[in-house]
Formats: sequence, structure tokens, C-alpha cells
Amino acid sequence: TEMKKKKLIAGNWKMNGSLVANEALLQALLQGIGAPACDVAVCVPAPYLAQVQSLVDGTSIAVGAQDVSAQPQGAFTGEQSAAMLKDFGVRYVIVGHSERRQYHGETDELVAAKTAAALANGLTPIVCIGETLAQREAGQTEEVVKRQLAAVIHVNGHCISEIVVAYEPVWAIGTGKTAAPDQAQAVHALLRAQLHHAANEHAAGIRILYGGSMNASNAAELLAQPDIDGGLIGGASLKAPDFLQIIAAAR
Ligand code: PGA
Repeated sequence: TEMKKKKLIAGNWKMNGSLVANEALLQALLQGIGAPACDVAVCVPAPYLAQVQSLVDGTSIAVGAQDVSAQPQGAFTGEQSAAMLKDFGVRYVIVGHSERRQYHGETDELVAAKTAAALANGLTPIVCIGETLAQREAGQTEEVVKRQLAAVIHVNGHCISEIVVAYEPVWAIGTGKTAAPDQAQAVHALLRAQLHHAANEHAAGIRILYGGSMNASNAAELLAQPDIDGGLIGGASLKAPDFLQIIAAAR
């Protein structure tokens, strides 16, 4: 018998927000959140980490970052280390989002190195994987997501159970085209099997989130799938009523 995992609902604000807008959004969230049945996080732009941390400190909302350097310190202009994120009370960090793979050339190797840096500093990496539309249409979905997951399964010296996986089909991100619940579940089941096959006794406890146009109306059905353990939410995380509805659907 497997222990029921607490789901995780993580907002990915991407490059959105301002001091004024963030405060309004977080106040609305804190007002409506009650005692959530799931874990909740907001992954915010780096300049706002301190602001957001001070607004959510002691609440049920945890702070996440959207990227981290693979390097510990030094001459890497523009980067933020995992230790710096930790210094600001950051709990989660998104790693290998498809927008970073696509626009910043992040490879599986770099994503693995960033995952290792996060783990070494006590952050929980939310590792994003997912196929493009062309890859899906070419029948390569399974091969692509397995390769991307394999890259982070054996991160040196760390238990894979400290990682959160986010399956985000690239064609579903920001497009309004959500994967059908059974379509998403099929990939999640593959990933779960791969985690088990990696012969780690903690595999059953790893949370696999779905991401890609999850919203207030489709969240409940997606989150009801047996291997969907939460969501990584972009657009809908910027609207308090929508994000609150998604949180309420995660039980
Ligand atoms: P979306 O973004 O919910 O706006 O599709 C999800 C993500 O990219 O993490």
C-alpha cells in the first residue's frame, strides 16, 4: 500500500509582476487560501524573491525561484547560485523549463548539473521535461521524456525522492491546449515506471506534476488522474481566483 502523497500546486509567474501587482496577488491568495490540502508555492522572478518571501513568511505559501546556476560562485555574470536562493528562504526552484531549454540552449547535462546544485543546497528542484509538438507528431514522446528524466535520475549522492518532476508538453504551454487527462496520465505512468525501474525504494513518493494550460476548469480532472501529483501553473497562477480554485481542486 502506497502512502498518499500530498499534492503540490506551484505557480510559475515567469517574467511577470511588479512590487504593486505581487503584493495584491499574494494578499488575495492569502485571504482565500484557508488551510490547503496540498503544498503551495509561487515561483517568482529573482528580483522579487525578497519581497515575496517577506509577504508569505509563516503562511502556507512557499517561495520558489525559476532558475539557478549550476556553479557554486564566482565569475558568472547574471547568474544566481543555489546558496543565494537558500539565503532568501527559497524552498523550490524550477529547473530546465522548456523556455530555458528553447531560448537559452539548456541541455540535459546542464539541467542535471543545476538539479545537483539545488539539491546540494537544500532546495527542491522542480525538473521540467516534455516533448514538442513535432516530437509528439513524430511518435517520439516516450523517447524524449525518458531521456530527459534519465538525465536527472542519478544525480550524484542525492536521493531522487528530493526531486519534483514536472511533465509539461511544450505544445500545451501557454497555448490553451491542455493535454487530455488520459493523455497526460499515460505519460505520467511511463515516468512513474521509469522511476520505479531506477530501483529506488523512494520512487513511489516522487511527485510528478502536470503543466501546460492547467486552469480553474480543467484542474480537477487532471489532478484526479492516479499519477498526477500536482500542477505547475503559468498563466492561471497570475489570477488569484483561478489559482485558488486549482489549489482547492488538489486534494
Ligand atoms: P501555462 O504555463 O500554465 O501558462 O501553460 C505552464 C508552464 O510553462 O510552467
